[in-house]
Amino acid sequence: MSAESIARWNAIPLDRPEPGPEQASTLKRSRSEDGHSDRDDDDVSLVSRSPSPVDRMDVDQSIDKYDEYHRGPTREVITVETRLKSTNKGFAMLAKMGWAEGQPLGLSGDGRIDPIPFTIKNDSTGLGKVTQDVRMIETTVSQRRELDSERMTKESEEQRKAREDAAAKKAALQQEISSTLRPFYCELCDKQFKNVAQYDEHTNSYAHHHKARARDMQAAQKLMQGRGTKEDVDRRKEKERKREEREM
Ligand SMILES: [Zn+2]
Repeated sequence: MSAESIARWNAIPLDRPEPGPEQASTLKRSRSEDGHSDRDDDDVSLVSRSPSPVDRMDVDQSIDKYDEYHRGPTREVITVETRLKSTNKGFAMLAKMGWAEGQPLGLSGDGRIDPIPFTIKNDSTGLGKVTQDVRMIETTVSQRRELDSERMTKESEEQRKAREDAAAKKAALQQEISSTLRPFYCELCDKQFKNVAQYDEHTNSYAHHHKARARDMQAAQKLMQGRGTKEDVDRRKEKERKREEREM
């Protein structure tokens, strides 16, 4: 800042003079009247340096303009259904490029005529999730196998017979298989084997031998107990005999 301008700044009085009637009107300047040169700005006091906002209501605007003043000019509402007016900027641009209303867009002129429709999504699921769910439900319901009970209620007499025949055949087959496999059945362990190899392996296994040992031990124990009681009986008989001898 030059010394000259500093001096000018200092010369500005700090207390603002009371605005007289004619001064009040000059304070209410519009922006266009504001000087833009430095010199002009420097002549204005500190207080009035920032221009007060132009009070639009102050100008000779009628009370009818109040709403417009607060909300701004009413906007033209464009929806998918309403057509653009010829005053619309985009309309004018398209028209300048040779487009006429009702014509499809695109270089080859085969674009869409109507705007892209849209649906409003109010939920928070991912895009396409609902469609996927619906599709999945539909396929699940259509492909679900009928329950046996459901099928039975629907079947005719011969269908029922066929089903029963099949069941009987299956049971017979099962019977046959079990009789064929009889040699590969371990009675001790109550286990059925399908071939010699499996059966062999089982009879050599620890589990099988363990069972066999346990069974043998139990048998031996029973035998011992039986013998014990037999001995007791013998002893009693012997005692009785001796007593009879003494009595005689
Ligand atoms: Zn066994």
